[in-house]
Amino acid sequence: MSEPSTPLMRQYSTIKKEHPNALLFFRLGDFYELFFDDAVLAARELQITLTSRNKEKGVAIPMCGVPYHAAEGYISKLIRRGFKVAVCEQVEDARLAKKLVRREVTRVVTPGTATDSSLNAEENNFLAAVATVGDRVGFAALDLSTGEFRATEFVGEAAGWRIQEELEQLRPKEMLYGSSAPLLDRVAAQQTRSFAPLDPSTSLRAGSRDARHHTADDIPTGTAPVVRISGSGWAETPLDDWIFAPDHAIPLLENHFGVLSLEGFGLSERPAAAAAAGAILYYIRSTQRGTLDHVDRIGFYERQNCLVLDAVTVRNLELIEPLFAGGDAGVTLFRCMDTTVTPMGKRLLRMWMLRPSLDLAEINGRLDSVEVQVKDSVRREELRRSLDGILDLERLLSRVTLETANPRDVLALAASLARIPKVRAVLAGLPASRISALHAIIDELADLREKIDGALVPEPPLTLSDGGVIAPGVDKDLDELRDLSRNSKQYLAQVETRERERTGIHSLKVKFNSIFGYYIEISKANLHLSPSDYERKQTLVNAERFTTPELKEYESKILDAQEKIVEIERRLFAELRSAIAAEAKRIRQTALALAEVDVLGCLAQIAALRNYCRPRFERKSAESESNADGGDLEIVEGRHPVIELQELAAGSERFVPNDLFLDSSPHSAKQNIIVLTGPNMGGKSTYLRQAALIVIMAQMGSFVPARSARLGIVDRVFTRIGASDNLARGRSTFMVEMTETAAILHTATARSLILLDEVGRGTSTYDGLAIAWAAIEYLHARVRAKTLFATHYFELTELAEQLSGVKNYHVSVKETGGSVVFLRRVEPGAADRSYGIEVAKLAGLPNEVVIRAREVLAEHESSEHRLSGHLTPGSSAAPERPTQLTIFTPLSQPVLEKLREVDLNRLTPLEALNLLAELKKEI
Ligand code: ADP
Ligand code: MG
Repeated sequence: MSEPSTPLMRQYSTIKKEHPNALLFFRLGDFYELFFDDAVLAARELQITLTSRNKEKGVAIPMCGVPYHAAEGYISKLIRRGFKVAVCEQVEDARLAKKLVRREVTRVVTPGTATDSSLNAEENNFLAAVATVGDRVGFAALDLSTGEFRATEFVGEAAGWRIQEELEQLRPKEMLYGSSAPLLDRVAAQQTRSFAPLDPSTSLRAGSRDARHHTADDIPTGTAPVVRISGSGWAETPLDDWIFAPDHAIPLLENHFGVLSLEGFGLSERPAAAAAAGAILYYIRSTQRGTLDHVDRIGFYERQNCLVLDAVTVRNLELIEPLFAGGDAGVTLFRCMDTTVTPMGKRLLRMWMLRPSLDLAEINGRLDSVEVQVKDSVRREELRRSLDGILDLERLLSRVTLETANPRDVLALAASLARIPKVRAVLAGLPASRISALHAIIDELADLREKIDGALVPEPPLTLSDGGVIAPGVDKDLDELRDLSRNSKQYLAQVETRERERTGIHSLKVKFNSIFGYYIEISKANLHLSPSDYERKQTLVNAERFTTPELKEYESKILDAQEKIVEIERRLFAELRSAIAAEAKRIRQTALALAEVDVLGCLAQIAALRNYCRPRFERKSAESESNADGGDLEIVEGRHPVIELQELAAGSERFVPNDLFLDSSPHSAKQNIIVLTGPNMGGKSTYLRQAALIVIMAQMGSFVPARSARLGIVDRVFTRIGASDNLARGRSTFMVEMTETAAILHTATARSLILLDEVGRGTSTYDGLAIAWAAIEYLHARVRAKTLFATHYFELTELAEQLSGVKNYHVSVKETGGSVVFLRRVEPGAADRSYGIEVAKLAGLPNEVVIRAREVLAEHESSEHRLSGHLTPGSSAAPERPTQLTIFTPLSQPVLEKLREVDLNRLTPLEALNLLAELKKEI
C-alpha cells in the first residue's frame, strides 16, 4: 500500500502492520471499516458493497464496512470460513479527543478462539497445538468457549499417526505450531472440510495454507520423530518457535494455574504436552481480553485410558456422522441416543461415546444411576423437566471471563442458576452413589444469582451504550443522575410557563432536539416581544429559535448526566462480571456435574422407553485377570439400536433380534472368531455393527438393546469395511483397506473386538480370499482378539474345520420358488450358497438375465468340479472334499508347493503380501 495521506490512514496502517494475518475491523463511529485488500476480501466473503475512500485525492482506497451493532454476525461468518479478525476499537471518547481518536485492537478472533453464540452447541470448538521436545511430541487442545483443556504426549515413530488420530477425533478449528518447527510436516493436504477458494494474492486466512513447504533438507536429522499431519479442516497458525520452548511455555502454564509444579495435572514429566498447552495459553492471552478464570484446569490423558476407537471405526460405525457425506444424521448412534436437555449434556454424551470407559467402577456407577431412574419414572421425568431451560453455562461463563458477555448473557446465567435447586431436590430422591456424589458437587450458587438479579433490571437492552441496564437502588449517584434526566420534562415545562408569563407570548415553547439541544421557539409574528437576553440560535420560515444562559447550563448538565450514567453503568457491570468470573471454578464444576446428570438422565430415558437391559460386566478372578483375556461376550436377543429405532419410526417390519457368543479364553475357546456368511442384504453388516454398538454403549454406562448382555471390558473396537462397500468415499480403495487391516493386526489385543466386513473385496477374488484367509489365521494364532468376519467368500468357512476357535454362522433365508425371503436370523453353520442370483432377481433384474445367469452358474460349477478333481492329486484333503479347495485348483504346481511350505502362523501381514505378489508372478 502506498504511503497513506491522512493521519487516520496512517493510524490505520500502523495498526494493520501489527496484524498482517487478520482482517482488521477498524472502528469509525458507528461502523467497523475495512480497507485495502481486507476490504476486497471481506466484501466478497460477506456479500457487502465495496466502496472507496479518498477518490478525489487521487489514489482511491477500497473500503467496506459493517454497522457496529451487527458486527458479531459478520465476524462469526468470517471465522467459520477460516479467517482471523482483529477488532480495533476507539479507546477514548470521540468528543474528548483533541485530534485523532486513539484506537487499539482489543481482541483478535480466530477460528480456534471463537466464543460467540453462533458456535454449534453439540460440539467443542478446539484450538490445538503441537510441540516437540527432544524425542517427544506433545499435543494439547483447548475449547476456549467451555474451558475444556487437555494435553497428551507421544514418543517415537508412531507419534505422527497418533496425533493424526487425535486430530480426527477432536476436529480442532485451528492448529498452532512452531513456524520453523522441523517436525511438523504436512503431507499433501487432503481436504476434509472445504473452504471457499482464496485469492492467492492475499494471505489472510489464519496462517496461510501453503506457507510451509518442506524440502527434504528441512527435515531434521537426529532422534526427533517427524510429525506428518494431513487434512486441513482447520486454520493453521504458525507462531514463533520460542513460544513452544518448555522454559517459556511451562512457567506460563504454572503461573496461569497458580501452581509451583504441574504435578497435580499429571504433566510434570510431560514436557512436550506441557509446552503445547503453554503455547495455547500464550496465544489466547495475546488475542483475548479477560482473566481466563474459566480455564481452571488441564487434564493429561492417554488414549489407552479409555476404550480406543480409531477414526476409521468412528466413521464406519456412524457414531457421530453418517458414513456418506450429506447423509441423514438420523443414522448415527449419537442422534439415536441423544435425548439430553442441555448443550453441556450433548457435548458430554458425545465425549462419552468417543471415549467409553475402561473403568469397571465408573461404568457400574453410571449403570446404577441409570437403573434407579429406569425404576422411578416419576423422578426421571421430573429431572428432565428441571434441567430444561438450563442454558449453556460453560459458554456463558467463558464469555463472562473473556469480558464479552452482555447484560442478557449475565441474566441468562442467573436464570439458569435459578433452576439448580429443583435439580438438586430431585437428585436427592434417587438412591445411587454417583448421583449422590453429583448432588454434593452441584453448587446452587444462590449468592451469585442474588447478586446478578439484584444488580440488573429484568429486561436490559443488549448493549451498555444507552444505559438502563443496572437496577435502581444499586448505586446512589446513578439514581440521582437518573432522577435529574427524568425530571427534565417537568423542568422544561416550568421554564416554559415562566417565560410565557414574562414575555406575554402564549405560543412560546421550550423544546429539545438532538442537534440543537434546548431552545425557546417564538413564532415570527411574536418576534418583536422577545426579550433582549435571548440569544438567536436558528431561523426557520415561521419561527425563530433562541437560547439563554440558563438553558445552556441546564443542557450541559443533562448531557453530562447522560454520559455519567452510561459510565457508571459500565463500571458497575464490569464489576458484576468480575464478581462472577471470580466464582468461575464453582460455576464450571457445577456445569460439568449438571452435564453428567443430564447424560445419565438421557441414558435412563432411552433405556426405559426402548426396553434396553442393563449389561453385566464380569468380575474376573485374579488369575484370569493376568491372562488379560477380556471375558466372554454374550448378547441374548441383541438389536441394532439405530435400525430398530428407524424401523419403529417407519412402522415397518420389526427388527429381528439375534444372539451372539464369543469366548473369553482363546486357548480352550469354543469360539472367538465367527465367520458370517449369507446373501447380500441378509443382515451381516447389521449384525456385526450391533455387536460393536452394544459394547460401546455398555462401556459408556448405558443400558443396551438386548434381552441380556454379559460382557468383559473391551480395550479397543476396530471396524473395517471392505473397499467396494466403501467406494462412495472415493478413496484409493484396496490400499486403504490393507493399510487399515495392517493397523488392526498390529495393535489389537486379546481384549479387543474386531469387525471385518467383506475385507479382501477390493482386489481380485483369489487375492482377496487369500488375504482374508491369512488375516484370520493370524488373528487366531497371534492376536486372539474376538473377531466377527462377514464375508461372501464362503470358501472361508473351511477355516472352521482347521482352527478350533473359528466358528461358522450364516444369516438365514427362506427359498420359495426361485426367490428368497430374508429371515434376518443368524444361525450356526455356513451358508450353503450365496443366493446372488435370487437377490439380483429381487432387485428387479430382467427375467431373461436371471434365467441365463442360472445356466451360466450351473455350467461353471460343474466345470470347477472337474478341474478340482484333476488338478489336486497331491492334496491329502482333496479326495474326501473335492469341492472345498476349489480356490486353489487353478494354481500351478510350483505355486502349490510354495503354498504348502509356508507356515501361516509365522507370517506377518507384510510377508503375506509379499508372498502373494510372488505367487502372482508365478502364475
Ligand atoms: P448384508 O451386510 O448382509 O448385505 P445388511 O446388514 O446391510 O446386509 O442388511 C440389509 C438390510 O436389512 C438393512 O438395511 C437392514 O435395515 C435390514 N436388516 C438387517 N438386519 C436386520 C434385522 N435383524 N431385523 C430387521 N431388519 C434387518
Ligand atoms: Mg454388508
